[in-house]
Amino acid sequence: MAKRDFYEVLGVNKGASADEIKKAYRKKAKELHPDRNADNPEAESQFKEANEAYEILKDVEKKAAYDRFGHQAFEGGMGGGGPRGGQGDFSSAFSDVFDDLFGDFMGGRGGGGRQRASRGADLRYNLRVSLEDAFSGIQKTINVPTSVQCDSCDGSGAEGGAEPTTCPTCSGMGKVRAQQGFFTVERTCPTCSGMGQIIKNPCKACAGHGRVEKDRALSVNIPAGVETGTRIRLAGEGEAGMRGGPSGDLYIFIEVDQHELFERDSVNLFCRVPVSMVSASLGGDIEVPTIDGGRSRVKIPSGSQSGRQMRLRGKGMPALRGGGSGDMFIELAVETPVNLTSRQKELLREFEELSEDNDPESKSFFKSVKSFWDSMKS
Ligand SMILES: [Zn+2]
Ligand SMILES: [Zn+2]
Repeated sequence: MAKRDFYEVLGVNKGASADEIKKAYRKKAKELHPDRNADNPEAESQFKEANEAYEILKDVEKKAAYDRFGHQAFEGGMGGGGPRGGQGDFSSAFSDVFDDLFGDFMGGRGGGGRQRASRGADLRYNLRVSLEDAFSGIQKTINVPTSVQCDSCDGSGAEGGAEPTTCPTCSGMGKVRAQQGFFTVERTCPTCSGMGQIIKNPCKACAGHGRVEKDRALSVNIPAGVETGTRIRLAGEGEAGMRGGPSGDLYIFIEVDQHELFERDSVNLFCRVPVSMVSASLGGDIEVPTIDGGRSRVKIPSGSQSGRQMRLRGKGMPALRGGGSGDMFIELAVETPVNLTSRQKELLREFEELSEDNDPESKSFFKSVKSFWDSMKS
């Protein structure tokens, strides 16, 4: 099933502020709460869906990655960049929500809520290569849309590279407290959104984010032997971190194209080669193409049947982590001659006569088959 758009799930516009997203999520979470939906079987999955959407959209980095790449940004075990929510069972999904709805009321989740510089998201890039390129390895230049550190402010987010200053509202704690009846209520600081620091003059080039969006050309070395599903990790080539945090990693996911001639099974290649009835009967040499672009001569033994396999050692694919190459297997497909001239037909009939003389057993076998069919007809 196609995944629904996270904004749609929460019922907000793409331009919605963090506050609007939070409000929309709380409303959904209340609506879909299991206590109120005992007889609505869909509520549970919708509840999970809303929870997963909010996990991403409440997080500045994950939201940015989602805005750019959609659901693809979080697919396929991306290490640090992947979402934590969405895979848990119902009870853990529920406890996440519980934390979020009541956590700050109960005095926070412990561990201090300050976040300053943060690591950039991991990125995924899908790259298709031909079987020939997978065989030889190749250098490829790819254009990766990503965000890079802002040059104007060196990633600090402040105009002219000035250091951010401690937030005056929360004194750098990222949280503020207020007395409410018996309770002390702790909330994320509204001035600095929990960062603990503010930028007095935000950099104009990056609006204070410390990073800008840009296509980056990267030269990637694709090693010989890659297969569909091979991942190549380029450390530090993912999204730039927030406010000078370390960059994420870039993962290149390889997909090897189908080849019109060769079928691949790990390091071995398979190929069907047509041979004439005469070559198969008498034996002879044939030339077959190989994945390295060359040709190899193969000896066909006389009397070869269709489906016979022959092995060319070392003519398969190289192993990705060294250790030699696989083999190439050739399967013979004996071709029955068509569009015969009358002379050729005559020769084949004569050939058949001789075959019967040659092999009295087959003659008697065919006779018995013929008499069987004749008896069926009458
Ligand atoms: Zn800047
Ligand atoms: Zn603050």
